[in-house]
Amino acid sequence: MSEDFSRELDVALQAVAEAAKLCRSVNSRIAPDVLEKKDKSPVTIADFGSQALVARVLEKHFPDDPIIGEEDAAELRQPEQAGFLKAIHDEMIRLDLNPTDDAIFNWVDRCSQKEYCNRFWTLDPIDGTKGFLRREQYAISLALIVDGVVTVAAVGCPNLGPDVKTPPEGGGLAYSAIRGQGTTVRSLVSLLNPEPVRVSSRTAMAEKRFCESVESGHSSHNDSAEVANRLGIKADPVRLDSQAKYCVVARGEADIYLRLPTRPGYQEKIWDHAGGVLVVEEAGGTITDVTGKPLEFTHGSTLKENRGVVVSNGSGHDEIIEALAAVGVS
Ligand code: AMP
Ligand code: MG
Repeated sequence: MSEDFSRELDVALQAVAEAAKLCRSVNSRIAPDVLEKKDKSPVTIADFGSQALVARVLEKHFPDDPIIGEEDAAELRQPEQAGFLKAIHDEMIRLDLNPTDDAIFNWVDRCSQKEYCNRFWTLDPIDGTKGFLRREQYAISLALIVDGVVTVAAVGCPNLGPDVKTPPEGGGLAYSAIRGQGTTVRSLVSLLNPEPVRVSSRTAMAEKRFCESVESGHSSHNDSAEVANRLGIKADPVRLDSQAKYCVVARGEADIYLRLPTRPGYQEKIWDHAGGVLVVEEAGGTITDVTGKPLEFTHGSTLKENRGVVVSNGSGHDEIIEALAAVGVS
């Protein structure tokens, strides 16, 4: 069998684009006061709905491939969740689908693989749920891992425009890659006209721009400020949710993405990184953990042998790792 993975990429893009339609639909109807009310129901609907749609497409084309994801359908099967199930079903009707409840449960349950194996997909159906609720950045991230190596990635960013300050005119952007073949960006709606993207060529550390999580609970803002200060970086960080950060580095809009541990013992989840990692690597960037170690996608659902994540345009990566060690980030 030829192993060029172009079919996997086509299917991954199709799956992510389909899920993005559902996410956009839920996102557009989020009430302005949803954050104040701490109402997470839009995330619940979009999370399960997006996961079901991606699993549905993967099942059709690659029925034997396991998927490692966060949610299974146990919660959704509870009678008190009937309102959510109906809302998910209503979203599917909008996409001209009319699945049975069991079909929805089965698709969601397809993502409940936990163990490492030699070929599997990993999915974050809505990465950056806080950004989704704020109607800012979020991503649908799907990656295929073969023999422990991220091999195919499709990262859909429905609210990402040509730069982080400009909203998209269409329905956002899809960044994708096959290992060894470079990264491209295209419309997340039409999936047509892919264009190559490259990381920045900036080498002067003082001029570099870095990005990080909006949420200081996901990445230490204090530590990143200290590291930036030590490196002589002048610009304030660009803060955005989700794996859109990887895409922003891949296209050269930022030069560095720092994800610095906020507490001992937190294990990064593979679905929060796999897609973004390949998008940046194939655009020419470098990724390690905060100690300079490569990320290991061979331990099931977490990066348990790594701490934090450091993404760069490839220039000065070692210098960043040294600065992290000097300020005591480990
Ligand atoms: P971001 O949008 O970059 O803030 O990242 C969102 C992701 O952070 C979610 O998908 C969570 O899986 C992940 N997350 C949750 N808690 C933590 C934590 N303590 N440290 C790092 N990541 C976390
Ligand atoms: Mg996530």
